[in-house]
Amino acid sequence: MEDCIFCRIAAGKIPSDIVLEDEGFVAFRDINPKALQHVLVVPREHIASLNELDQLRDRGGHALLRFIVQVAQQLGVEDSGYRAVINVGPDGGQEVQHLHFHVLGGERLGEFW
Ligand code: AMP
Repeated sequence: MEDCIFCRIAAGKIPSDIVLEDEGFVAFRDINPKALQHVLVVPREHIASLNELDQLRDRGGHALLRFIVQVAQQLGVEDSGYRAVINVGPDGGQEVQHLHFHVLGGERLGEFW
């Protein structure tokens, strides 16, 4: 989608600090980090939110979760710990309408709720 910022990042059309990528997913640093390590993981294919997960063509949610583990390894937080969060819809605080996991770590994170 031409007007989707995360589609444009995944396609390399606008600059980003990419941490890891494969044929299905891209991980890049959040422009406004909420922790020492804050990376966003997106599918290259555009889906608006977690609610459309079944629309992912070739690789489903399990592959996405496995990719997040690889991102954690890449960041060096696999053992120290991290948090993987998806905001969904208005009440969830989702601002960008392209499915993305926030992967946060590198420090002891505050209480989530
Ligand atoms: P959410 O509120 O869950 O939709 O999160 C959107 C996230 O995208 C926020 O944490 C923003 O800081 C981040 N973000 C927005 N634009 C960019 C960008 N161009 N590069 C990296 N992160 C971005």
